[in-house]
Amino acid sequence: MTTTNAEPDDGDDGKEVEPDSALVTARRQLERAAAHVDVDDGVIERLKHPTRVQRVAVPLERDDGSVEVFTGYRSQHDDVRGPYKGGLRFHPAVDAEECIGLSMWMTWKCAVMDLPFGGGKGGVAVEPKDLSTDEKERLTRRFAEELRDVVGPKKDVPAPDMGTDAQTMAWFMDAYSMQEGETIPGVVTGKPPVVGGSEGREEAPGRSVAIIAREAADYYDYDLDETTVAVQGYGSVGANAARLLDDWGADVVAVSDVNGAIYDPDGLDTRSVPTHEEEPEAVMTHDAPEKLSNEEVLELDVDVLIPAAVGNVITADNAGDVQADVVVEGANGPTTFAADAILEENDVAVVPDILANAGGVTVSYFEWLQDINRRQWSLERVHDELETEMLRAWNAVREEVEARDTSWRDAAYVVALSRIAEAKSTRGLWP
Ligand code: GLU
Repeated sequence: MTTTNAEPDDGDDGKEVEPDSALVTARRQLERAAAHVDVDDGVIERLKHPTRVQRVAVPLERDDGSVEVFTGYRSQHDDVRGPYKGGLRFHPAVDAEECIGLSMWMTWKCAVMDLPFGGGKGGVAVEPKDLSTDEKERLTRRFAEELRDVVGPKKDVPAPDMGTDAQTMAWFMDAYSMQEGETIPGVVTGKPPVVGGSEGREEAPGRSVAIIAREAADYYDYDLDETTVAVQGYGSVGANAARLLDDWGADVVAVSDVNGAIYDPDGLDTRSVPTHEEEPEAVMTHDAPEKLSNEEVLELDVDVLIPAAVGNVITADNAGDVQADVVVEGANGPTTFAADAILEENDVAVVPDILANAGGVTVSYFEWLQDINRRQWSLERVHDELETEMLRAWNAVREEVEARDTSWRDAAYVVALSRIAEAKSTRGLWP
């Protein structure tokens, strides 16, 4: 295991190279938001740098007996408010820079939600589709062992992210617990309920996106029954958001996956469109009046657009073509920094990921509490408390939007940064 505090080149040489890395976008967003809030420059400077980035080799014995070595990372950005918290992804594009940027977003996300956590993110640079289930299990267990010194319920609590799921977390928890000599469910969240997971955790990011889309529609005086919605990505986040909004009366007119989109101006029956989990990449097999490309979904003339697939999909190239009135970010980092400026110029409201999809980490917090107390909550309680927390955060951000006449992203950063800065200045810098 190597530990480095060294920063990778952030490529931020002033040139507009799109799409930016998560780190470049995260740093630019921080600098921009810092201008809106009375925070000590030293605090902002400290927040530009992760506390620690673990880089580990993860050797895997393939099913054919050969050995391949993958690289894993864990970026721990800031823990002034509590243990580092954030997902682990299995994806070929995982690298140190991406993990640092994503871990910064987790710091803000936890602070916007007022959770007693800081920000972390990690993963392994691997294509999970190329691994058998047994290989995925061996890779996860070895990765857990390589990270064992730096994670723990009071230190750093990973969770699922792209390419990982509840089963991955169960293997991670098992490997960690076996080495520690006791069952420690609170080391990760997003586990299956039978081993200490929380009811409602899986659908929580999508549920929070739906709650925030509903509140945003109300804020801009749309009647939800007449609100049209397009969703890019039909995995856990996109499908759960689409189905809940559909249940609540909105017209979900388009949904997509990597193969393309289906469009019905009268509204789709979202429950009958298979999610990625139900049948991978099967959206296009569903009958619909029109089929579009995955990118065309972003340019539909709808009231609410929910990019819920991957990062960097709304860029300087297509932001000018976005016709939605409100964008609610379901994925982490779907809008580049340059695209944000174009959307603002065009009066498109963008409700940021760190608020909209924060239901995931919020129910992770509920799960962590349940694990520590060894007492499971009912699904009803999870839904009620999630609703309460999302509305609390929405109102805090809305107040800043109104008081400062800023974008939703800047307002969310102001809420987060104020809380983090206050904690930092109260604790002080030591030595
Ligand atoms: N990976 C999720 C996110 O990006 C959840 C993190 C967590 O639950 O810790 O918010």
